[in-house]
Amino acid sequence: MRIQFLGAAGCTSGSCYLLAFGDKQVLVDCGLFQGPEELKQRNYGDFPFVPSEIDAVILTHAHIDHSGLLPKLTRLGFKGPIYATAVTADLCAVMLADSGHIQEMEVERKNRKLARRGQPLLTPIYTVEDAAKTMEHFKRMVYDEELEVLPGLRLRFRDAGHILGAAIAELWVTEEGETTKFVFSGDLGNVGQPILQDPTYITEADVLVIESTYGTRLHEQREERLEHLADVVNRTMERGGNLLIPAFALGRTQDVLYALRVLQDQGAIPPLTIYIDSPLASKATEVFRKHTQVFDYETRAMVREDRSPFQGPGVHYTETVEDSKRLNSISGGLVIISASGMADAGRIKHHLKHNLWRPQAAVLLVGYQAEGTLGRRLQDGAEEVRIHGEQVKVRAEIATISGFSAHADQAGLLSWLRRFRHLGHVFVTHGEKESAEGFAELIEGELKVPVVVPRLDESYELKGTQAVSTWDTHYRSFSVEEDFSGVCQVVQGAEVQFRGAYGLAQRRFKIPNSIFTAFNLGSARQFFARLALVRLGHEAALVSAPAGDWEQQLAEVTGQAPWEVVQREVLQPAQLRSSGYFYLDQLPVWAASGYTTTSAGRLVENIYALAGAEEKPQLFASAPDLARLWQLLAAGEFLPLEEVRRLLAPYRAKRPGAYRIEGQAPGVRALFGGTLEEPLTVVVLSNGEQGALHAFEQLLALGKAGEASGSTFGQ
Ligand SMILES: [Zn+2]
Ligand SMILES: [Zn+2]
Repeated sequence: MRIQFLGAAGCTSGSCYLLAFGDKQVLVDCGLFQGPEELKQRNYGDFPFVPSEIDAVILTHAHIDHSGLLPKLTRLGFKGPIYATAVTADLCAVMLADSGHIQEMEVERKNRKLARRGQPLLTPIYTVEDAAKTMEHFKRMVYDEELEVLPGLRLRFRDAGHILGAAIAELWVTEEGETTKFVFSGDLGNVGQPILQDPTYITEADVLVIESTYGTRLHEQREERLEHLADVVNRTMERGGNLLIPAFALGRTQDVLYALRVLQDQGAIPPLTIYIDSPLASKATEVFRKHTQVFDYETRAMVREDRSPFQGPGVHYTETVEDSKRLNSISGGLVIISASGMADAGRIKHHLKHNLWRPQAAVLLVGYQAEGTLGRRLQDGAEEVRIHGEQVKVRAEIATISGFSAHADQAGLLSWLRRFRHLGHVFVTHGEKESAEGFAELIEGELKVPVVVPRLDESYELKGTQAVSTWDTHYRSFSVEEDFSGVCQVVQGAEVQFRGAYGLAQRRFKIPNSIFTAFNLGSARQFFARLALVRLGHEAALVSAPAGDWEQQLAEVTGQAPWEVVQREVLQPAQLRSSGYFYLDQLPVWAASGYTTTSAGRLVENIYALAGAEEKPQLFASAPDLARLWQLLAAGEFLPLEEVRRLLAPYRAKRPGAYRIEGQAPGVRALFGGTLEEPLTVVVLSNGEQGALHAFEQLLALGKAGEASGSTFGQ
């Protein structure tokens, strides 16, 4: 039995766990990656598994970071059922259609630009139609019902108290006569929060996968939170400004409406004019109104007494874009609740542009603000922000209320955990690194159970309550030299078998290398120029002597800058999205700086490359991108296989059937390759000069051995 962490590992988005037992493979959640650009790139390209081989999906709740890649899954061939609660299914109909629309719009915008430049067009990750088709796979369940979803797999959903319909998934998995009980917390809510029932306590788990969004933090108390909200509302209304509340359409918007209703009923704030300016929030609220039976006791009573928080004289739902724009001309007296919750997309950005510069206005942040978002910048006290290409001064009051979180805080998570009478092994996921690691330490100390924070794509073999990382077992003998700085990755078939990141990408700012870091490929850029020539039908590039200035030839043949041709003929069609040509003084944040040692033994940032670059942009790529390129070559999808073999002939490695492409420059070592049969990809990228070759050769040998022994990596 095996579990693999394909999302929400080392980050909070992209929740997706692959459970393999017997000859079955099941996904728990299939979420969209959100946040920094390099993470979002994971939404494109192939899944690290074969969609048609997945037997079923178990979906904990409708939030897009858990459900958002389901339409891509069905688009790429998934045929099985998706199990979810009825409310989750109804909410997904709204959320996934909206997400499909966003994907289409985004690509349409990009394609207008590409079309003008005569470049090949992109296709969206999925469309509204894909989202609609996905809905046909849903199987609706009710809380506490137990169901055999596959031979050897029983499922029960329990209330997670996170958003309406959200569930904890209990799974009983039987393999070779032995049953292991899994508990996936999904996103866990707070006790005593509005509208929702409390999270259900679970008492037994052989394997628990628990979220840790707030694993190291505490929320404000409910009373303080309401008081705090009343203060902000009153202050803003007295100043005569608008109060803007960026809020997730699903969950947070309804929570805020509820709190404002309660405060108005108490007379703590004046009667308000509230606009819900998000079509998605309006539709989600519609689903809430249809499922009042799952509300908690107080909210059911409010609805019965005609005090519904979701409708009333002061509550307006904007319908059209014109309605929304009209709000921009009103300078005060409104409460505007609008998406997105982190203010990095959606209509809230327009409202921020029109109000941030007004000292009378206020922005109230009521949700988690991820790094890199506009919401986070405001929270961190930015004095000026950029919205839709315009600089906007921040003069409005910026307030934060953390208690609104739909996630349990550290105390909440711990008190939920303490109810377990049997707890075998714990995996801590769905948190930023510090949060997950801090919380894992706390659990280990308090509950004395084995706890692990899995790495993205890492696989664990499970036996009873024993969990062993296949990365650690099979690659135990692998070691990098002490001063190696860079990343290593081994991919076999679709599965990431090993991954490691070492050293710093930026020493000055102490930014560590991560699997998403892009590295200068140095002279390996010539390989890309050859690839482009072959793609353009120039047989000469298939000759067996690889030396020569292929970029020069590419320039002569096309009359264009070689990097532009490679971008168009290789990087774009292969969808190598975190790769590109960058000038060394304009590197993107996810690129590593090269470090080289002077003859005096001093380590310096790589200025030689700068001087020698002759104002040529350098080719940077990430390990996942190079692995993707190799997989495409091996599959014959990028070029006919016969041409691939001729192209690669000069790069043959000592090991039979294996290839090694190398690049170097001062402070740069890049090695990638592997085998074409049973495609094995090994990538070692370094922003230093030590140990790269040594690492590559070890991994190539171990990768091959893994293929031979087979059993450890069954499936
Ligand atoms: Zn959630
Ligand atoms: Zn989540």
